[in-house]
Amino acid sequence: MWMQEERTSSCDGAGLSRRHFLSSSAAAIAATVAAAPLAAAAQTAQNSEPARPAGVQIMSPDHHLPNEKQPGPVNGPLEAENPDSIWPPLTDNGSVQTFKWSFSLAKKEIDSGGWTRQGTVRDFPISKRMAGVEMYLTPGGIRELHWHVQAEWAFVIHGKARITAVDPTNGGKSFVNDVSAGDLWLFPGGTPHSIQGLAPEGCMFLLVFNDGNFNEFDTFLLSDYFDHTPKEVLAKNFSVPQSTFDKVPKEKLYIFQAQEPRPLAEEQAQAAQGTGGENEKFLFRASTMQPTKETRGGNVKIVDTKLFPVTDIAVAIVTLKPGGLREIHWHPQADEWQYYVAGKGRMTVFDASHNARTEDFQAGDIGYVDVSRPHYIENTGDEDLVFLEVFPDPHYQDISMAEWLAHIPTRLADEHLHTGEQFFSNIPDQEAIVVPL
Ligand code: MN
Ligand code: MN
Repeated sequence: MWMQEERTSSCDGAGLSRRHFLSSSAAAIAATVAAAPLAAAAQTAQNSEPARPAGVQIMSPDHHLPNEKQPGPVNGPLEAENPDSIWPPLTDNGSVQTFKWSFSLAKKEIDSGGWTRQGTVRDFPISKRMAGVEMYLTPGGIRELHWHVQAEWAFVIHGKARITAVDPTNGGKSFVNDVSAGDLWLFPGGTPHSIQGLAPEGCMFLLVFNDGNFNEFDTFLLSDYFDHTPKEVLAKNFSVPQSTFDKVPKEKLYIFQAQEPRPLAEEQAQAAQGTGGENEKFLFRASTMQPTKETRGGNVKIVDTKLFPVTDIAVAIVTLKPGGLREIHWHPQADEWQYYVAGKGRMTVFDASHNARTEDFQAGDIGYVDVSRPHYIENTGDEDLVFLEVFPDPHYQDISMAEWLAHIPTRLADEHLHTGEQFFSNIPDQEAIVVPL
């Protein structure tokens, strides 16, 4: 909890420093504290917000100041979920685009075999390179046989599912297997596949696509294709009578209730006839892997193409204990799409030229960080914070602030920050990812 205490105390009037006069709420302050000598504040060249003269307190720990009143309407539950938007840290500034959205704001599509909802660039403008889908399938509920242009990366949140595919790169070998909570799968773009919930609880899972404009309601469905192909062509294609296709559904199936599948070994053997099966190729059992790194602050599991060769989407599955910090870092190669699985936290993103913003997250929320923007995530709750960092790239890559400062000449570093060279000498040689060590 050390980070929270440090930050709360920074609002205390006794601890005022120049930083306190660079808050993002400058316009509101200027309007409500007209008597203060703000008119004299100078505009700086890079910053459109007025600098404040020293000695004026603009925020109090208990928010009792005249300029902190909010007499108008308040959406109480939403404000309570977003304390760092209502009372931003005094280091936040400028107009960084929102990097928070929530599946709770998405329209849920409910069907006989379960439901789905999606978060795409159309609703969440910053998420240009990736989109996400949540889905629940009842025991026996099927997400219809289909394919799409984009690769599909998945994380099982709850329950079990049977997934199937046929591998176009390997002579049409079959893939049939069952996945459980914490497991991943990856279907490359164009690979035909299906998902079916299993007893006793069905399956809830997350899908991530390497295209912000992906549309879950616009995929290539088996029933839709058959309905829009002439029966004489189907008959010729499969060398069967046209009447074979008399009962092909006229409406798309999409997510529908069905019988539960046959035993796994039986279905694997049936699907593998002739070409053989490769029943591990498209899944990765992240639920049983050892953490890539573990510290007192938590742990991280990194799964990219080195461990899971078929994937072109990399992930870091991060668990932060209460008070833990995902250290200051950035990703030089790709945007980051986040999903919050459990707990509560906040993320601050810096975007150069005096721009920084903090937003609060909880289970079910989505976050997004543009390539190379430095960021950190704090656990602000009293239970573990679990979140996914997903990247549209086969390789995981990051650089941490500590890693950088530990591996440059200490005199050079100290000429910038004036902390004393010992500070740089003491930074651990290896990247922590999650702190404290
Ligand atoms: Mn799919
Ligand atoms: Mn990151």
